[in-house]
Amino acid sequence: IIYRAAKTYPVPDVDLLTLLFDSEHALVKPDSPIHISASDPSLVLTISRARDLTQVTSAALRKHFGIGVQGAGKDICSVISTGHYLLPILSYGVIGAGGVFSAASAASTASELSKQIQSAQSKILVTVEATKETAVKAAVKAGWGANGGGRVLLMSEGREWSLNVIQENGQLGPNLVDQSERLPWKRITDPHELENSLVILIYSSGTTGLPKGVKLSHRNLVAEAVIPGDMLKAWTTTFRPSFKYSTLAHLPTAHIAGIQGYLINPFYMGGRVYWMPRFDFSQFLEYNAKYKITIFFTVPPIYLLIAKSPAVTDQFSALEIAISGAAPLGKDLQHAASQKLGGPECFISQTWGLSETTGSATVMPLGMHDDTGSVSPLLPNMLARIVDDGDRDVEPGDRGEVLVKGPVVCKGYYNNEAADEESFTGDWFRTGDIAEFRDGLFYIVDRKKELIKYKGLQVAPAELEALLVSHEDILDAAVIGVDADDGTNEVPRAYVVADAKKISGQQIIDYVQKNVASHKQLRGGVVFLDAIPKSPAGKILRKDLRTLAKREQGA
Ligand code: ATP
Ligand code: MG
Repeated sequence: IIYRAAKTYPVPDVDLLTLLFDSEHALVKPDSPIHISASDPSLVLTISRARDLTQVTSAALRKHFGIGVQGAGKDICSVISTGHYLLPILSYGVIGAGGVFSAASAASTASELSKQIQSAQSKILVTVEATKETAVKAAVKAGWGANGGGRVLLMSEGREWSLNVIQENGQLGPNLVDQSERLPWKRITDPHELENSLVILIYSSGTTGLPKGVKLSHRNLVAEAVIPGDMLKAWTTTFRPSFKYSTLAHLPTAHIAGIQGYLINPFYMGGRVYWMPRFDFSQFLEYNAKYKITIFFTVPPIYLLIAKSPAVTDQFSALEIAISGAAPLGKDLQHAASQKLGGPECFISQTWGLSETTGSATVMPLGMHDDTGSVSPLLPNMLARIVDDGDRDVEPGDRGEVLVKGPVVCKGYYNNEAADEESFTGDWFRTGDIAEFRDGLFYIVDRKKELIKYKGLQVAPAELEALLVSHEDILDAAVIGVDADDGTNEVPRAYVVADAKKISGQQIIDYVQKNVASHKQLRGGVVFLDAIPKSPAGKILRKDLRTLAKREQGA
């Protein structure tokens, strides 16, 4: 069975920058503010200023590093990605020069970063002051030479836009940005070129193994901007003519959610992005209120904070659209957090997607509600199948792995044929996620790799985690499979954050026993932790818990 989205939207044959800056396509006016610093709102970029600085940046990168000289899509420019309001200029500038924008996590260690720039074969690495030392160390480790061999650049964080090379002697060179030199981006209309281009090299989160470089094209990025953008436009025109798109950049920008959510979609939708450099929950609350944020995408750990924190009062009174994704959000938590955000008027909808689908592959049409815990219907223009281990379609309503196809699906991985081989069957992409499809909606069960196998039956950690955090005395929880004492089975073990004076391990085991089938019980016991290890994008790092479990077993 092939599931199809109910609608399709036309995806124009244009390159990303033309889409964003050309008012024929975009929904915005040249003097609209687009990127704003949340800590100092006098730091503002309008569309026309952003367009100007983009071309100035492209010119500097071309002149000093030859970015784009050998043709578009070849020179990778790695950027340690922070929540700085000038970050978009760098990404648009790299793309405009014909380079490839590749974001690296600001939380990376020098050795992780060094691996990434080696795997990407990056030409340059751009950093801000706070990560300068790590950047230089990583570049030296990657063999770039003393102090990064003149290929590490420092970007400005203030009002003036500048890029300075860190020279081989360690000193900062002059500002390379020359306001009088502009390089216009190349306008592309050839569908084949749009489809096969490499514009952004995004690294997957590395939740299940090493992060993989995912190649995103103009077609991918334009489709992921236009489809949800035009859905929103249709809805606001009819139902909310006064809706003002205003979002808060608070998630890591090295993750696809940040690329989609801050660098591209708001721009296309004529919205404002208020940037906060690092996440802090009380500041997050303050900025939501201060800037009257109307729409945001965020991740389950933040919804957990919203649901459980007494500090949440009326900060979200302007919020109209709240979306969750990147990790499973249980139905109970979805209800509890929605209540805190504003009740039925602002019910959290879920989106599911991957780096490999340029972000969202499912999305809730505006004005439609689902409170059954689904991740919404397919994104328009997308196709999906749900298959068993032999790639046969499962019966309607049954579980299986989701395969997807459509304009947001990437062409493959960067220099990684083994991963291409494993992940594509024809032009269908294997997501590695297990789902059910019922009444037009997708329900994510868990990742295929995370399912616990107990006596031939499957247990989804996500289901037990959702149950655990719905208990009022449990602040957070994660579940993994551990070897049973007899060595023949995997049994679920819960790692829990809770006040042990309020609830005991045995009480948690009893609570789960009361609520789920026998094979799902916590036969692997309960372990109390101070915090659940999570990635910057809010994913539970079960591999870290497995290491912990092995260490305990060894001890
Ligand atoms: P890696 O592929 O490197 O192991 P990753 O898969 O976590 O890391 P991402 O591309 O950032 O890297 O995340 C995609 C994954 O996130 C999906 O495959 C899915 O498991 C999970 N995910 C995304 N949205 C949802 C959602 N709404 N509900 C449940 N899981 C989700
Ligand atoms: Mg993945």
